[in-house]
Amino acid sequence: MPTVWVLGAGQLGAMLKQAAYPLALRVEPVEPDSEQLPNIKDDDIVTVEREQWPDTPVTRYMSQQASFMNADIFGKIADRFHQKTMLDSLEINTAPWCSVEVDTKAAALHAELGCDVLLKRREGGYDGKGQHWLYQDQGGDVPADWRGTGIAEKKIPFDEELSLIGARDQDGKKVFYPLTLNLHRNGILMASIAPLSRVAHLQDTAEAMLGKIMDSANYVGVMAMECFRVGEQLIVNELAPRVHNSGHWTQAGACVSQFEMHLRAVSRLPIKAPEVRGYSVMINIIGVERELDWMKIPSTQCYWYGKDVRPGRKLGHINLNHPEKSALQTALHELRELLPEHYQDVFNWVETELARA
Ligand code: ADP
Ligand code: MG
Repeated sequence: MPTVWVLGAGQLGAMLKQAAYPLALRVEPVEPDSEQLPNIKDDDIVTVEREQWPDTPVTRYMSQQASFMNADIFGKIADRFHQKTMLDSLEINTAPWCSVEVDTKAAALHAELGCDVLLKRREGGYDGKGQHWLYQDQGGDVPADWRGTGIAEKKIPFDEELSLIGARDQDGKKVFYPLTLNLHRNGILMASIAPLSRVAHLQDTAEAMLGKIMDSANYVGVMAMECFRVGEQLIVNELAPRVHNSGHWTQAGACVSQFEMHLRAVSRLPIKAPEVRGYSVMINIIGVERELDWMKIPSTQCYWYGKDVRPGRKLGHINLNHPEKSALQTALHELRELLPEHYQDVFNWVETELARA
């Protein structure tokens, strides 16, 4: 079996490594700042857990390998200007946008995109970082440090946020997980729920969109598509050419997790439509110290990433899965008691949405 080298050694790399055991694959996440170059053999595979990386000896070496999967895609997705251009060229519905040039004025952006305009950095933004709202009624121009570095988007008055995780193999076969409902607070994912029968009628449309994107790029592996639902319409917010936080529930709720699916696809093992079991909820642990009592709650899987605790930082996640909604509701009640006050509205949302799932 070849070794799968992963550019990046955060929690996604660690979960890829965990998923490799049943496949008897060796997965080696590599820190971009590592002093030593990985010993990549001819039949090994190089993949990523991030779409962007600093230019270091290690990242240069890894990304220049012939076996570096999807080499062309990162430049097209990691820069929002190129990502939006690609979506437009594929005629995939996305939030109206324009480029923020060095001389772009707020008035011109409001004229083109409306009263509320969201500036997003072309590169490097994540978890809502790298965003700036321009409100016409508050006046104010494009801040100096945004000129020439961003795109501007129309504010989408969405009903909710859904994401689709799909995978494509080297023969072009595609498989998808059911649409996932996501709650973000201040741009950061707090909770996900899947599957939801009430959005099942949007599944084919979503699959056609992501399928077209993956086919056009001849992509191999797992890709995530974040969408806004506005009525019966899906609007693509952004793409991630990798495993994604909104797919973590698949560890508990699908016969093949997104991590295993990605490894299968990149290493030429068979991929299959993932059967989904019961109902799943994923709660992200943001800026909260680990509580061992979480581990006592039935129907949960607790993942702790071993990072230093800092406000606003993703430190772990808890998957809850059960065939019966009522059992999941009981577990959610127990977990709610063990998380701080600012999680209460997250649990309110989860309980309401699970009831109508
Ligand atoms: P990140 O890379 O930080 O995830 P996103 O583009 O996904 O950046 O934005 C984070 C969140 O901000 C989204 O999940 C959504 O809640 C909100 N958001 C992003 N774009 C828009 C938009 N055009 N209109 C309204 N809300 C938006
Ligand atoms: Mg996002």
